[in-house]
Amino acid sequence: MLEVVISKEFEDIAKKVKSGVPLEKDEALYLYKEGDLFLLGKLAQDVKERLHGKKYYYTINRHINYTNICTTGCKFCGYHKKPGEEGGYVLEIPQVIETLKNTPELKEVHIVGGLNPSIPYEYYVDLIKEVRKNFPKVRIRAYTCVEIDWLSKISGKSVKEVLLELKEAGLNSIPGGGAEVFSERIRKELFPAKISGDKWIKIAKIAHELGIPTNATLLFGHIETDEEIIEHLFKLREVQEETKGFYCFIPLAFIPEGNELSYLPGPSAHKILKTIAISRIILDNFPHIKAYWVFLGVKLAQVALLWGADHFHGTVFEEKISESMKKTQVMKLPPKEIQRLIREVGGIPVEV
Ligand code: SF4
Repeated sequence: MLEVVISKEFEDIAKKVKSGVPLEKDEALYLYKEGDLFLLGKLAQDVKERLHGKKYYYTINRHINYTNICTTGCKFCGYHKKPGEEGGYVLEIPQVIETLKNTPELKEVHIVGGLNPSIPYEYYVDLIKEVRKNFPKVRIRAYTCVEIDWLSKISGKSVKEVLLELKEAGLNSIPGGGAEVFSERIRKELFPAKISGDKWIKIAKIAHELGIPTNATLLFGHIETDEEIIEHLFKLREVQEETKGFYCFIPLAFIPEGNELSYLPGPSAHKILKTIAISRIILDNFPHIKAYWVFLGVKLAQVALLWGADHFHGTVFEEKISESMKKTQVMKLPPKEIQRLIREVGGIPVEV
């Protein structure tokens, strides 16, 4: 990393970050808005090295997107199909098991899908049970807070009951999707049928109380303001102070293709790196910040490892959500290639 000269106006902020003192909201906003890209990178990297030294993490995982049929209609999503629309699919459970059996050295399975009214509650529980039965040691990360809310609705059970049943079936943790931006203004505009930020947080907290760790995301680079991004990050920091239940934060760069917002330019590399960096700085109480290469592309994700990210996600194999928007297939990243990318930036790869 370049040696960065810290200008007078950012000296106090830099001192706080370097000594592990949490920034105030206005300081974080000022740094994000006005701070130089390299200054943010340097500060974020200081936080990253304080927490992890030269270690960078990845896993051998496979994504399962069990259905693309969804009634929520989020404007930024090019993945979903309406019920009855051509191209909609639901994966049969044996099909999922067969796919996972064809994944060598699998450590983690990541299961998410749309809110599909034709799938009964039992499918969700049986899917977890079958994965657990066939892969006793695999980590099962499944169903976002949005899906958990849906399961509660279709089953008539409380969120707590649903989570306990899934945990009993073999669920280990919950992915971070569906948080989008915790701004009511944006929710009304882009995803009015989706649960609110408050509800998302409430479900994450219940999971944490039950000993189920969750991830968290931010979808950025569309119509949100810098203030809304900082607000989102501060809310997450506050929840983490309370529960310590978040494992990883994943800044998701909006993909401006194949959806109703395709007229937007999408976030630049500059914006993406600054957002990853400010996330690492504000969320210094989160163990990990992810460079989600599926959305960023492998090359920019590698650079993000020098801007505060410490987790390179995993091998993935296939991922239908970004594939449906970019119209290109997500290529699996072999573990050896992930290790090479990490070593190239001076890191030590650690498989988790
Ligand atoms: S983002 Fe998720 S909830 Fe929204 S439309 Fe797409 S699949 Fe449905």
